[in-house]
Amino acid sequence: MNNDEVVLSRFVVNKVWEVAQACVDDSRKGWHVMMPDFGDAMDSLEFTAKEVREALAFLEARTYLITLSDEDGHVTGISLVPPRFRCEFCKMWLNTQSNPENHIDFCLRQQRKIERNRNLL
Ligand SMILES: [Zn+2]
Repeated sequence: MNNDEVVLSRFVVNKVWEVAQACVDDSRKGWHVMMPDFGDAMDSLEFTAKEVREALAFLEARTYLITLSDEDGHVTGISLVPPRFRCEFCKMWLNTQSNPENHIDFCLRQQRKIERNRNLL
């Protein structure tokens, strides 16, 4: 691989990641990328199917996203993996995008449950 190819593929990877984030379906809960929009964007950027596949594989290997593919290896779906952090009180994994205040009630219940289980031991 020469230098040009390295630069190109990094550009492709960054662009694919950018577009995937921009195409997330806000109307549904979750992190599903709207594939028609994503495909159109890839076409207008003139990325080849191979480049897109490689970029997605690169991102998937680093758990930025998860891809679904059919038996021919065509990518049929993309789901982003949201950044997560662990609540230090109840040890639950939380999403950095969600409002932490929504977790308070649940967290207190979890802590009571943990406390109860501890007492039973
Ligand atoms: Zn918590």
